[in-house]
Amino acid sequence: MSELQSTANISVQLPDGSIREVPQGTTPFDIANAISPRLAAAVVVARIRPLAATTTTGTESDSSEESMYSGPTTDPDGTRLVDLSTPLTESVELWFLKEQDEAALKVVRHSAAHVMATAILELFPETKLGHGPATDQGFFYDVYRPSPFTDADLAAIEAKMAEVVARNEPFVREEYPRDAALVAYRLQGEFMKVHFIERFTKPGEEISLYKNGNFTDFCRGPHVPSTGRVKAFKVMSVAGAYWLGDEKNQQLQRIYGTAFFNDKDLQAHFKRLEEIKARDHRVLGKQLDLYSIQEVAGSGLIFWHPKGGIVRHRIEEWMRQECIKRGYDLVYTPHIMRREMWKISGHEENYGENMYPPMELDDAEYRLKPMNCPGHILIYKNSPKSYRDLPVRYAELGNVYRYERSGTMHGLLRVRGFTQDDAHIFCTPEQIEDEIAACIDFAESVLRTFGFQEFKVELSTWDPKDKAFIGSAEKWDGAVGSLTKVLDAKGIPYKTIPGEAAFYGPKIDFKLVDVLGRLWQLSTVQFDFNLPARFELEYVGEDGSRHQPVMVHRALFGSVERFFGVLIEHYAGAFPLWLAPVQVGLVPISERHHAYAHQVKAELEAAGLRVEIDDRNEKMNGKIRDFANQKTPYILVMGDKEAEAHAVSVRTRAKGDQGSLAVETFIAKTADLVKTRSMEL
Ligand SMILES: [Zn+2]
Ligand SMILES: [Zn+2]
Repeated sequence: MSELQSTANISVQLPDGSIREVPQGTTPFDIANAISPRLAAAVVVARIRPLAATTTTGTESDSSEESMYSGPTTDPDGTRLVDLSTPLTESVELWFLKEQDEAALKVVRHSAAHVMATAILELFPETKLGHGPATDQGFFYDVYRPSPFTDADLAAIEAKMAEVVARNEPFVREEYPRDAALVAYRLQGEFMKVHFIERFTKPGEEISLYKNGNFTDFCRGPHVPSTGRVKAFKVMSVAGAYWLGDEKNQQLQRIYGTAFFNDKDLQAHFKRLEEIKARDHRVLGKQLDLYSIQEVAGSGLIFWHPKGGIVRHRIEEWMRQECIKRGYDLVYTPHIMRREMWKISGHEENYGENMYPPMELDDAEYRLKPMNCPGHILIYKNSPKSYRDLPVRYAELGNVYRYERSGTMHGLLRVRGFTQDDAHIFCTPEQIEDEIAACIDFAESVLRTFGFQEFKVELSTWDPKDKAFIGSAEKWDGAVGSLTKVLDAKGIPYKTIPGEAAFYGPKIDFKLVDVLGRLWQLSTVQFDFNLPARFELEYVGEDGSRHQPVMVHRALFGSVERFFGVLIEHYAGAFPLWLAPVQVGLVPISERHHAYAHQVKAELEAAGLRVEIDDRNEKMNGKIRDFANQKTPYILVMGDKEAEAHAVSVRTRAKGDQGSLAVETFIAKTADLVKTRSMEL
């Protein structure tokens, strides 16, 4: 082999370990095609890693604006996505991403955003383009056009997109001198493109443009090979957004769409959206008369109605009993405290923007509490502590008030006043691992009790280079070490997120997975190096000298309001028997059976059940339907036969008619379901 040939060849290592020698400039598509034309047709995008490179520490790819333009980004594992048409210039490991790959889906979705932009400009050439990233649900494109897009416009855009797809235009990447691109975009009045180029590229660089047909976009890529690969898509909606999120800027229109590999996936997505809509806690909250938010009182403030109130009572009662069982002490602390105290705690300085403004009283200024921690600390500090008193665990279902910007509130999920199931643990360094382990057990118990099957754990740590994090490396390493040790010992998989900790210490977050697979951030366990120092917390150690205790904040529901919202959606309003506001609905067939129905009601209530009777002069089926609409777990129908036998005819909301049961048998069965907090009926 001649010298010349050997330098012109590169090695490509495939996932099966085989290595192909190919001429420099060969594309991933060429290689796929050489393996089999069918593979080439199925591949969406390629992933490569230079063979020469040892693990490079790249920037993590994400869906932020920056990741769309500054590039090429390399994932932490040293790989990166490239177009199938990218000429390979060095020896690489090569993977082909086919349909069903999550990363490939993002490439399809971002390509669909280009297709949508193509369609928009063909129909509405006066439109200026912002950016169009893929998202978890699909994609969007921010555009500027003085007149708003109507539903008819969106339908026209979708129809035009189908034409762009049918034209099957190849996506072609071109490098272009940055300064020339800026001049051209300025001339066209593309103020957003100018901004992105200036912000995310450097003078003298070449920038990458992607072309399909007559459409060109400033973009890092990668893309699918051609517009024909965008096979299943839908333009969903349009919403207003300000350019750069600033209300003084131009009002943009954000056009949302979604795209999938095929129509089946797209239809499944719509079905899921329907389900999400049917479970919306704001709709169910009204339908089931659980809670309200009243404009006259202010937004983000929750009124718990009797039916929501009883559910809350059961939830809180469970939590308090569990706390006592697990060695916590229940405490209560004031809702307002002196401003001076919030200065000592550092909340005024570090959290002031989220707090309500001070109130002037005759003796001092006061502020509403955004957190319960200082209150618990003051109780701890109120008497001297020795190592024999530790661990101290204070729990409170504490109401806190936080300022959220108007317009950002969302039902029970984002509010201005809420109740944390808050606890603070003060312990010695030797006790910390047991305490963390107990917190994790407790969090798992919440999960099981309320009928969740799965959760995901994230460990947030510091960035030693970031000065915003307080505390020594020794403290951080020790705390992170304890957290990982406990998670590892329990065999709980977790994702570590460097730099995401609170400034005062590392934390573990638990995200529950609901019945639709959605993630909800609820439980959190956090170390705190800050408050014990600020409040000069101490205990006398075995050695007789003073030490600073380790402090942990933990909340398991997070916020009772938010948890209630999650439960409503998780159960679709059909609460398990132990939580259901009305557990049993009684339906006497006619007026003749009212006396018997009231007798049964008294017996069930004596057994502790929550019962409602419908003795209106209505048809039986209408009454059954009303209870069913309220998602009442049991509906008992009573006529002559039942009255004679001291029985009830049982219907469950899940399974319908269950036949007749003696009243005593029904009571025994339901008592057991309530006691075991069963999810079944
Ligand atoms: Zn693009
Ligand atoms: Zn706290």
